[in-house]
Amino acid sequence: MPVNKLTDRFGRTVNYVRLSVTDRCDFRCVYCMAEDMTFLPRQQVLTLEEIARVARSFVSLGTEKIRLTGGEPLVRKDILELVREVGTYGLRDFAMTTNGSQLSAMAEPLRKAGLHRLNISLDSLDPEKFRSITRTGNLSKVLEGIDAACEAGFRDIKLNVVVMKGRNDEEIPDLVEFARRKQVSISFIEEMPLGNISEHDRGLALCTSDEVRDVIGRFHELIPTTDNSGGPARYYRMPDSPIRVGFISPHSHNFCSTCNRVRVTVEGRLLLCLGNEHSVDLRRVLRANPTSDEKLQLAIIDSMDLKPERHHFSSNGDVQIIRFMNMTGG
Ligand code: SAM
Repeated sequence: MPVNKLTDRFGRTVNYVRLSVTDRCDFRCVYCMAEDMTFLPRQQVLTLEEIARVARSFVSLGTEKIRLTGGEPLVRKDILELVREVGTYGLRDFAMTTNGSQLSAMAEPLRKAGLHRLNISLDSLDPEKFRSITRTGNLSKVLEGIDAACEAGFRDIKLNVVVMKGRNDEEIPDLVEFARRKQVSISFIEEMPLGNISEHDRGLALCTSDEVRDVIGRFHELIPTTDNSGGPARYYRMPDSPIRVGFISPHSHNFCSTCNRVRVTVEGRLLLCLGNEHSVDLRRVLRANPTSDEKLQLAIIDSMDLKPERHHFSSNGDVQIIRFMNMTGG
């Protein structure tokens, strides 16, 4: 692995990149998108080859961990080709976040193509609630997908739940039991004010990680661990299960001081912070230099000076970032 050349002004080393491979999705989750979304025209979207160049450049600068996300990464045509390519870069950790809708067919090919890990979003175990949160999703397809992922031999599968009061907070115990039964880890996420939604009031729906932990604590002892992904997640274990329970708390706990990650949108915008607009246009550099990655690498190194010290999400639901999560790459 090359020496890491990505250190920012605050001494933080960036070794983790999330690459969005599409802004499109077959779901319209109420916290993530508006019902009527307009997606990017094709020429604004990076080609798979361009995404691979970005990935390769980060790896040459010391990146050890890449996550493919979106939108829904599995709706991008030829995604397996990209997975196969990035799978040859010798990453310590190569993961994907997916809504699971296509995993029943894709889990095994993804595993064979070299992907190490999967995070699967699952906000409800009730088919109607699931449909109302995702607007278009079919719960049974996703459950089949989770089983297929388990059978394909992925290590450390994790479920992601965005908890909303009055929506799915009553399902917290059931979701934990489901995860224990399937032997997959589970993380509960506080909804973030990304993109302007009108479907619900984010301030009223916010269910803090402390509240979720209190609910789980009524059924299971939660033992804090020192596991740390450098992000806003804190992990716990239970005495009678191998799974981890995570809490992702962008509102209530700020872990910016150890932030080790950046994101690249499918338009090639390098975002230095989830909760700030600071960015660098990598697509311009990619397309101006089609045969060499040297300028691309320099642009990535220089971008480190733009990484802000921290984000400031307020918990009243006000939108502070106008881009939706499907653009950002969750
Ligand atoms: N389509 C994939 C999926 O459903 O997992 C990947 C993209 S999705 C944007 C990645 C993650 O971001 C999901 O776990 C989703 O629940 C989460 N997410 C989206 N919008 C969010 C928001 N406003 N606040 C918190 N999490 C959000």
